[in-house]
Amino acid sequence: MAAATTPPSGSGGVEAQIKRMVEEGVEVFKCPNCGAPIEVTPDSLVIRCRYCGYIEYRDPGFEVLTFPSIGREKIEEIFWRRMREDADMRKFVGELSIDSILELYVPYYVVPYDAQYFFVGERTEVRTSEMVSITIGGSGSQTVPTTVTKRVKVKDSGSLSSVEAILARRHVEELGVKELTTQVTQLDLSSAVPAKEYDWRRESTAVMGFDIEPREVPLLTKDVVAEKIKRWVKRKYRLEKIDVIVCRVNVKDFKAVLVPLYIVTYRFRNALYSIAFSGVDGRQLVALEPMLPGYMMLYVGGAVASIFVAGALIPLSLTFSVFSLLGTGVLTYVAYHLIRKALGGVRFER
Ligand SMILES: [Zn+2]
Repeated sequence: MAAATTPPSGSGGVEAQIKRMVEEGVEVFKCPNCGAPIEVTPDSLVIRCRYCGYIEYRDPGFEVLTFPSIGREKIEEIFWRRMREDADMRKFVGELSIDSILELYVPYYVVPYDAQYFFVGERTEVRTSEMVSITIGGSGSQTVPTTVTKRVKVKDSGSLSSVEAILARRHVEELGVKELTTQVTQLDLSSAVPAKEYDWRRESTAVMGFDIEPREVPLLTKDVVAEKIKRWVKRKYRLEKIDVIVCRVNVKDFKAVLVPLYIVTYRFRNALYSIAFSGVDGRQLVALEPMLPGYMMLYVGGAVASIFVAGALIPLSLTFSVFSLLGTGVLTYVAYHLIRKALGGVRFER
């Protein structure tokens, strides 16, 4: 018996390719249509054969709904219309070209809930009252307004019903995802279709998998909602301090959904910029725009003005030390940020 010491060196064949992938620890799936190896990342719900175009939706084991995408052509149309109508960019439409259009489906849980809260907190109240003072030895009395500052305890309870969107992935850094999340709870669930019946052939997309499982959703939602209620209570009752807060969150029947997102990357004067659009309605989510000379002048002008005023404050600081020094500090900070923006070359727009 001769032990095989060297691995078979089939260089280009499909079998060798599969073997190599298995050795590298990648889950490999053999295309049921043409037999070619398809690399399967646990991240993706839809797999696509690079050789024959075979597409398969991989059921995650629970029901998933998909919001149909308005499609790549429509997004392209929206992009060009936006550029032609943009006050700054329309002069440069001729110099723009689309570099890539990335199509993504982002997984969310849409979670309706009821919540009850109770809290005890503290706030400072300022009361103005009129006091009558009698001038000694004078001609009578006069009223003097007096302010009294008092720290008071506040307690209250209440209930609310709402919907929360929980991003079903822990690390998503794609442009526009944060903005998309705020849009998800406003979407009409009746326009979503079962993901397993959706025609994935229409789009050449990346369909992100759910790395947060349905069983984790109630607890996660409770944490997110409790945190939101806490911030809301603090703002609403103008509290400086919350001593106790109790939130009871009752999660109702939730849905796993996929929401389409498009990232259009375009070229302008040898640099790349991106705009993210919602694939549901084509709404712009966020844009990274070029810093055009007009804006640069604006930022630089602002910075110069800040430095000038800050400089003028310094001699004053001899008399009103704390305030003018503080002013100088703030203005220097503003100038620094304006200059950074001007040099950054990219402008955020939401
Ligand atoms: Zn194939």
